[in-house]
Amino acid sequence: LGMIGEVEPRIAQATRQELTDQRGSLKLIASENYASLPVLATMGTWLSDKYAEGTVGHRFYAGCQNVDTVETVAAEHARELFGAEYAYVQPHSGIDANLTAYWAILANRVETPALSEFGVRGVADLSEQDWETLRHRFGDQRLLGMSLDAGGHLTHGFRPNVSGKMFHQRSYGTDPETQLLDYDALAAQAREFKPLIIVAGYSAYPRRVNFAKMREIADSVGAVLMVDMAHFAGLVAGKVFTGEEDPVPYAHVVTTTTHKSLRGPRGGMVLATEEFAPSVDRGCPLVLGGPLSHVMAAKAVALAEARTEAFRTYAQNVADNAKALAEGLLTRGVNLVTGGTDNHIVLMDVGSFGITGRQAEAALLESGIVTNRNSVPNDPNGAWYTSGVRLGTPALTSRGFTTSDMDAVADLIAGVLKHTVPTTTAKGEPSKAKYDLSADARQTSLDGAAAL
Ligand code: PLP
Repeated sequence: LGMIGEVEPRIAQATRQELTDQRGSLKLIASENYASLPVLATMGTWLSDKYAEGTVGHRFYAGCQNVDTVETVAAEHARELFGAEYAYVQPHSGIDANLTAYWAILANRVETPALSEFGVRGVADLSEQDWETLRHRFGDQRLLGMSLDAGGHLTHGFRPNVSGKMFHQRSYGTDPETQLLDYDALAAQAREFKPLIIVAGYSAYPRRVNFAKMREIADSVGAVLMVDMAHFAGLVAGKVFTGEEDPVPYAHVVTTTTHKSLRGPRGGMVLATEEFAPSVDRGCPLVLGGPLSHVMAAKAVALAEARTEAFRTYAQNVADNAKALAEGLLTRGVNLVTGGTDNHIVLMDVGSFGITGRQAEAALLESGIVTNRNSVPNDPNGAWYTSGVRLGTPALTSRGFTTSDMDAVADLIAGVLKHTVPTTTAKGEPSKAKYDLSADARQTSLDGAAAL
């Protein structure tokens, strides 16, 4: 940091402060973690300086022999860790991984007309009408993904995202009573909608998914099953999710981030069956440019870590800690979506405290607890204010927290929620953003968070 400070002190200071903030508060953001020092150190090397567009042994630049080694080792660890037939480790993020997967599936399943069909010799000769025909061929494809308020991700067909624009899209939700996935309803929706792709996976669903059932539904309508395991990849890697809860044996294509429960560098990956491997392998130039060689190297290091017995213990602890956190909150009167958890996520519905997710998030933050607000199914407060707060245990588990620590964390959270009230607006109505938090409750939580 001293070296960085000599060039740009503000960056050194912000980086130092980030360490203080991350270590000095309770990090309960379900998508965050603490990568190991070997992973962090691997990202800070001269591998960053190398261009390597293309694939291993087939690059558009000279001198890529070391990046070839890096990419080969990372892909090998990914294949062996997850039991996948093929792994593509170039995507820079989860969004890139999903885009790569979508285009690879389209390339695999949607026949692209040969230029000769249009009677032209080159793309430049295509008429407006020809382009319309091409656009129609791709633009008419259908995608069925989990809705945002049920816990899906914006890349699963949410309209403001490119996935919602490139596909004719519909989403599936959860059962209004149980808030759980309803496989029969999903099967009926798939029969009616006939999607090309069904996306399974989530960002805010606190339960496990039966991927064997998902595949059965996809097969029943001839759809491709794509699973986005960005959130729970660590639980798959650590063999907490096995059998029908492991997406890899059932999905045609699996995408993931590497920085959430998997505890690697920020990045993405695509796993695929042999059938889809050749089209995924064209991620560059289809969607990507030069891969981040230093990040691929850090993925290799993180994946090597994830293959150890210690990581399996970690993954089991993540799930056990989530259960303990959920039980601690339930016994203190906090409502949870689906009534609990069996993965790494706990989704609180804070509506019964008379506050919004936004107020709860802010009150918790000033009490030393970092979370994010999140919609609950059919949220009356919409996606901005929300009625929910999402919690996750991957980061605190990396810090060595145990189930009894999680009970103490639940106590702090419940204490803050119980002492937060909305202030009133000029019209005398409860505000959705402003709130009062008792100073005692805040101090108790700050002291408790520091002690943990
Ligand atoms: N997929 C899921 C399920 C996610 O939860 C996220 C991130 O929150 C992503 C994809 C996108 O990952 P990234 O932020 O790396 O683009």
